[in-house]
Amino acid sequence: MNSSQKTQVDRAHYAPSSAYEDFPQPIGHRATISAPHMHASACETLLPYLHPGAKVLDIGSGSGYLTAVLANLIGPSGTVIGIDHIQPLVTMAQSNMEKSEAGRQMLDSGQVSFVKGDGRKGWKEGAPYDAIHVGAAAAEHHKELEGQLKAPGRMFVPVEEGRMQHIYVVDKKEDGKVEKKKLYGVQYVPLTDAPQE
Ligand code: SAH
Repeated sequence: MNSSQKTQVDRAHYAPSSAYEDFPQPIGHRATISAPHMHASACETLLPYLHPGAKVLDIGSGSGYLTAVLANLIGPSGTVIGIDHIQPLVTMAQSNMEKSEAGRQMLDSGQVSFVKGDGRKGWKEGAPYDAIHVGAAAAEHHKELEGQLKAPGRMFVPVEEGRMQHIYVVDKKEDGKVEKKKLYGVQYVPLTDAPQE
């Protein structure tokens, strides 16, 4: 690996233990930081839409790790919003990013922001998005999320089907038509109602 390929976001700032193992790790509040291979697959899938200046929504941002990686992929002219419905995780994601100088700059400049809300409704304030990543399994294909995609735009989303979950790639074409492609089976934390505080 040469210096231009070196990793820009240290997973150890986001995972409390075994940061470099290819497994999900608990981060508290019944949430997990996804396994590196899942983060890689999500980034690879969304990559054609992560151009300079792109707007991205990361739903179920949890540790904030993928939010930070997405911001690095689109560069300083784009914006990434991470949304989670558990306030302590929103705060944790922010402080995880603040552990590096680059992360602090991204937060200060507004390139990255973390908000609290129900991700099943997306985040209207920042819409439309070139890319939406959903980091928790949706009970259905939420129409509001499709509505917040640009045309063209792409969403990476795990969807529950009976006792199974599958990753779907939802593409909104330039003419506004929506196409869904099923990729592979997964096991994600569910996208649910907010816990009682
Ligand atoms: N991408 C994160 C995954 C965290 S686990 C990471 O790799 O760190 C899934 C996250 O989805 C949890 O943080 C959970 O709080 C959040 N979540 C679940 N339901 C949600 C909802 N309705 N709205 C927003 N966030 C939700």
